[in-house]
Amino acid sequence: MMRLSVLASSSRGNASVISAGGTTLMVDAGISAARIRKGLAECDLSVSGIQGIFLTHEHHDHICGLGVLSKKDPLHLYCSRYLVSDLRAGMAAYTSFTCLEHGSCVQLGDVSVTAFNVRHDAYEPFGYLIEHAGRKLGYLTDSGTVTPDILRRLQGVDALYLESNYDPEMLENSGRAPALIDRISGDWGHLSNGQACELVRQLAHTGLQHVVLGHLSPECNTPRLATSAMQNTLDELGLSECRLHCAPMANRLPWIEIH
Ligand SMILES: [Zn+2]
Ligand SMILES: [Zn+2]
Repeated sequence: MMRLSVLASSSRGNASVISAGGTTLMVDAGISAARIRKGLAECDLSVSGIQGIFLTHEHHDHICGLGVLSKKDPLHLYCSRYLVSDLRAGMAAYTSFTCLEHGSCVQLGDVSVTAFNVRHDAYEPFGYLIEHAGRKLGYLTDSGTVTPDILRRLQGVDALYLESNYDPEMLENSGRAPALIDRISGDWGHLSNGQACELVRQLAHTGLQHVVLGHLSPECNTPRLATSAMQNTLDELGLSECRLHCAPMANRLPWIEIH
């Protein structure tokens, strides 16, 4: 059994924890170290029990807790080579780094994690496929579009953590500069509610147990809009067994279990 808990998720900060077969890892650490420690404690975990932190990319809302977090405990970071050079100076000397590239597969105990490129305005952003005992969890955030490669890698997932960043109408009426609106909605920006639904449509199979919506924009989306769009999609697909979750922006999403 694999478990996922989301400590925080929105354009303001992202961190998740995944546990399976005695291995515990995190994806991103974009909230304060204090909030990470508190969230882990709520999961009955501590930083010293995390075997690896896999980073998606260098944006503040995905890495900002790392510097302070590294002062008390040795961290094992897995990320692109660009991020290694960016981060090293701000981290305690005993922090370990492992460089990933597109297709890299890391084995931590009984859990394997495969990195794959996504489209985002960052140096080399990754999504992850996390596998344990024949179960697959796809992790896709901060991607302006879904490439054929992303689609291929996520086929057959039992659970999917998926960015559902913005509602196009709310983004259009947000009062933001046209250039920023173009960046967010462009191919190197973020996934809209509709794009998230389209991806689930393409990944639909009866074994899909959980869809977790994340990285909602506090200004350009609401949990109600994101979940109602996705629930309609799941209903249309006849996936009545699939549980839909929306990661709260400021609080922890309790463990979901992938069997
Ligand atoms: Zn982000
Ligand atoms: Zn980003």
